[in-house]
Amino acid sequence: MAKSYDVAIIGGGPGGYVAAIRCAQLGLNTACIDGWSDEKGKPSLGGTCLNIGCIPSKALLESSEHYHRINHELAAHGIQTQKVSIDIATMMQRKDEVVKGLTGGVAMLLKANKVTHIHGHGCLLDGRQIKVTPVGKGKKSETIHAQHIILATGSQPVELAIAPIDNAQIVDSSGALKFASVPKRLGIIGSGVIGLELGSVWRRLGSEVVILEAQEEFLSMADRDIARDALKAYRGQGLDIRMGARLLATSQTKKQVTLTYSDSNGEQQLEVDRLVVAVGRRPATEGLCAAASGLLINGGGFIHVDEQCETNLPGVYAIGDLVRGPMLAHKASEEGVAVAETIAGGSGHVNYDTIPSVIYTNPEIAWVGRSEAALKAAGESFNVGTFPFAANGRARAMNSTKGQVKIIAHSETDRILGVHIIGPGASELIAEAVLAMEFSASAEDLARTVHAHPTLSEAVHEAALAVSGAALHQVKR
Ligand code: FAD
Ligand code: NAD
Repeated sequence: MAKSYDVAIIGGGPGGYVAAIRCAQLGLNTACIDGWSDEKGKPSLGGTCLNIGCIPSKALLESSEHYHRINHELAAHGIQTQKVSIDIATMMQRKDEVVKGLTGGVAMLLKANKVTHIHGHGCLLDGRQIKVTPVGKGKKSETIHAQHIILATGSQPVELAIAPIDNAQIVDSSGALKFASVPKRLGIIGSGVIGLELGSVWRRLGSEVVILEAQEEFLSMADRDIARDALKAYRGQGLDIRMGARLLATSQTKKQVTLTYSDSNGEQQLEVDRLVVAVGRRPATEGLCAAASGLLINGGGFIHVDEQCETNLPGVYAIGDLVRGPMLAHKASEEGVAVAETIAGGSGHVNYDTIPSVIYTNPEIAWVGRSEAALKAAGESFNVGTFPFAANGRARAMNSTKGQVKIIAHSETDRILGVHIIGPGASELIAEAVLAMEFSASAEDLARTVHAHPTLSEAVHEAALAVSGAALHQVKR
């Protein structure tokens, strides 16, 4: 007889494994089927995020930031250094150990919560059944049954036919996380989050980085003031970002990749040693469901879901990168928790209006809520308060004064509608703004909240004061 579970989850990334833990906490007999294998063929839970995404990229951002700081920023503090060198193999080994520690931690958490972890490939059949094909030779497929099913198979990089990935000279983000040496000239297609974060890593380590971006508008998802400051900062760091650049063709020799692209000046050529294709990600649905399952997949390849993440099949849910909304780990996890609570009879809910976005470059960029342009387009009436890090004591002590905090609040209710930060610690500072918006705070609520001195968070405080023209450490113009 087929094994039966209360809940079966296909995918063990931040959506799937978090859903599994929450289901188990709520007393549901839960299985999590995940197909990821490490280089030795062993299971490695945590999905894209832990294995080839959020975590390894942040490990390399951290290492490269240390190297850059020693070479370029310590002299201002009076610290003299001898010639500093970089050992890429050790840097990569540290990154791999960070990943291993965390993926192992997820396996331990599933075990401790008595979640059945199956290392295999899941395919949704009809009647809430899943065909499970275990990873490894000679192992037999089995069919399991579950009262509820959660699909959480994540996403994959979008490929460009004119720049096919060969995992040698032309790579996707995974390849760019394991270069064995620093490329002299690195080309990147796409100035999105991956292009900027991984471009920063290799630029800091010494590559000449050229980023070709098809759109005319830089970081179109961010507030315009923040995007303008960001472009200036990145270009100042030597990231050669070329906007309105459409890739037309690539050709390769043993040593180089030649890119042909067009921009406002006509057709151009660029030679690079390595090329990273970072033009977005698409939902991973291949092999996920048999036609007979009747699962509805919409035009963009995303699985169709309602507000509660339920698909067109009752009792079958889909979460994370597979469904509408931003492709972010914390969004996937929150959906996992909400679906688990719904299944257990509660009222799971995700507030999509307060999902923070972060770009982990230097300066960091973070935002929550709506941009000034989006609010204008929606005909909202609002007030804006800004505060530069150059006027913040802690930022000056750190010698890290680039950037600003911008708070947008409704002109009548003063309710905070959006917070946009570029500058030191933005990834942590945004949490206060998310909490404020979650509690429907007004700018005055933030302005009347005591912030420790001297901290970067005082810039958030001052921006909140500035909404009503009351910033204390800024001359009113
Ligand atoms: P995934 O994490 O993709 O997990 C899906 C899992 O399902 C995988 O283990 C996969 O092997 C498995 N699977 C797929 N098909 C099947 C099947 N049929 N059967 C069994 N298993 C299957 N987001 C952030 O919020 N912050 C960041 O800093 C960040 N950095 C990133 C950096 C990079 C380089 C990349 C590529 C992504 C980054 N992201 C970041 C995005 C983040 O990784 C994703 O949004 C997140 O991992 C999505 O989680 P998920 O659970 O939906 O899917
Ligand atoms: P993205 O959507 O952020 O950026 C892709 C960029 O490529 C866009 O600017 C797009 O205009 C450009 N582009 C598309 N086709 C092009 C072409 N043919 N030529 C030139 N430019 C082209 O995608 P990404 O950077 O690949 O990241 C994928 C996803 O991963 C994102 O949705 C993001 O949410 C997630 N991610 C998040 C983080 C983070 O939260 N810090 C970090 C990395 C990745």
